[in-house]
Amino acid sequence: MASETEAALAATLSDSPTIFDKIISKEIPSTVVYEDDKVLAFRDVNPQGPIHILLIPKVRDGLTGLSKAEERHIDILGRLLYTAKLVAKQEGLDEGFRIVINDGPQGCQSVYHIHVHLIGGRQMNWPPG
Ligand code: 5GP
Repeated sequence: MASETEAALAATLSDSPTIFDKIISKEIPSTVVYEDDKVLAFRDVNPQGPIHILLIPKVRDGLTGLSKAEERHIDILGRLLYTAKLVAKQEGLDEGFRIVINDGPQGCQSVYHIHVHLIGGRQMNWPPG
């Protein structure tokens, strides 16, 4: 079983702080490609393509994953996707890209702070694994 899948199955849904809190506070270094007052985008430490960026809300506000979304999260969810488009442009992904939001164990989510994967720079395939 791939290590990403093992990590996802080992992860548990909780409201505890995650590694992303330490990335937001810069306690753990990351390669930031975009930042504003609401969204942080940084390169994935285990890239699944030439470009692999994670976009996260700076304040989780109960949004551990997409399945926990409530009406108050509509603005931040839109911002994450719109920012993904801006970052894709910034990264030169003019031929296309893949957006992924993993949710829960079967969705292969390993970090319970909602995040959008922006992956590009190679031909994607369908169906996904
Ligand atoms: P998920 O599997 O939850 O959808 O995605 C979590 C992602 O976070 C994975 O792609 C994993 O490589 C990435 N990740 C986990 N820890 C770190 C870290 O410390 N730094 C960075 N940059 N990415 C991380």
